[in-house]
Amino acid sequence: MIAEIVAVGSELVSGQALDTNSQWLSRALGSLGISVHYHTSIGDDLAENIAAIRIACDRADLVITSGGLGPTQDDLTREALAAVAGVSLVEHADSLAAIAAMFARRNRSMADRNRVQALLPTGSAALPNSCGTAPGIWMNVGRSRVACLPGVPNEMKVMFDEQVVPRLRDLGAGGRVIVHRKINLFGRGEADVEAQALDLTARGRRPEVGITVSEATIAFRIIGEGATEAEALAQIEPTAEAIYERFGPLIVGEGTDDVVHSLLRELAKAGTTIAVAESCTGGLIAHWITEIPGSSETFPGGVVSYSNQAKIDILGVPAELIAAHGAVSPEVAEAMAQGVRERFHAGIGISVTGIAGPGGGSQAKPVGLVYLGIATAESVDSRKLELGPEQPRGVIQRRAAKYAMNWARLRLQGVV
Ligand code: ATP
Ligand code: MG
Repeated sequence: MIAEIVAVGSELVSGQALDTNSQWLSRALGSLGISVHYHTSIGDDLAENIAAIRIACDRADLVITSGGLGPTQDDLTREALAAVAGVSLVEHADSLAAIAAMFARRNRSMADRNRVQALLPTGSAALPNSCGTAPGIWMNVGRSRVACLPGVPNEMKVMFDEQVVPRLRDLGAGGRVIVHRKINLFGRGEADVEAQALDLTARGRRPEVGITVSEATIAFRIIGEGATEAEALAQIEPTAEAIYERFGPLIVGEGTDDVVHSLLRELAKAGTTIAVAESCTGGLIAHWITEIPGSSETFPGGVVSYSNQAKIDILGVPAELIAAHGAVSPEVAEAMAQGVRERFHAGIGISVTGIAGPGGGSQAKPVGLVYLGIATAESVDSRKLELGPEQPRGVIQRRAAKYAMNWARLRLQGVV
């Protein structure tokens, strides 16, 4: 069964609003085993709506529209669908009663315009709306099934789950279940990772594996298919195992997990704590750590020591060290890490000092030059990163923060 989603709304095509409904619907259909082949977006124009719905009905077995079911002049989906089907609109008594009842429940009088929302193409069925006024529409047009849902995301979702899913199941669609698993890696380039996984990402392989990158975190997405969810997950399992075997220490987690989640897990496992001294990352590491509930168990705190004086006063970095090597140097990174570790009585201290740009770079110390420090009870170390000079400030900051956390995570795992 091939599906198409038609998102209606001038705010979508003009760029004022993002079409999140299509994304949600595609995922929901995918998990029912129905693959979506087309996304179409159109403005609130009758001729264009008619054309788009007609095209969709010609090429898809299932067409789902969202938006344009409201009571205003620019809500045209009902009319467009009737035109494509070659039928007229008729008032649907039950829907009108439901709309009137909804207004009564809210102690509001019903405007005449709202009657329009009870108009449905002849031969269609109303999809009751349990959280808004406009009913949706379910209709056969030629060989296609068409479901028209409201544009308001919450109403759309509820109507899809309550009204559309059971109808799709009745049709025998969705016999196959599609599941996704996303395994996230950090610490190596995409090309490098892919070179080690060409057999997995080969086209036509089952299960299908794709690679995506976001903020230097590389994700393997495995897509499995089966008659049941358990079967689809089982299809994925050997591929996931192969990825774990090959990339073991690089893996930071699954789903939405990133470096910070992995770091906190390793800290908890080791029963230790981490304190952070940040210069060019301006508190980003502390922010990411504290975004995770429960991080107080492993994070006593951090310092944003932006100026030299702050590094001296708050972290106890010797002034002579800064004078001799500059604030962006391995020596200062190490002193920062040691200072913050001691001051917060933490098991581990990490530090970041670098040049985030766009100004402030020199031949010897270009934009993107960053030193990380790590201090434990046993040792203190530093590392150099070259993240620029062409990268924007925000990218350099986020990369530096992630690399620092990743280093601490690997240290805890005993990898580096
Ligand atoms: P209403 O009964 O509220 O008029 P409707 O079915 O006519 O509902 P629209 O008027 O098209 O829907 O949209 C209502 C709201 O939902 C708007 O805020 C709109 O931006 C939002 N919306 C519409 N379509 C989408 C979409 N595809 N993705 C995300 N939001 C959407
Ligand atoms: Mg509307």
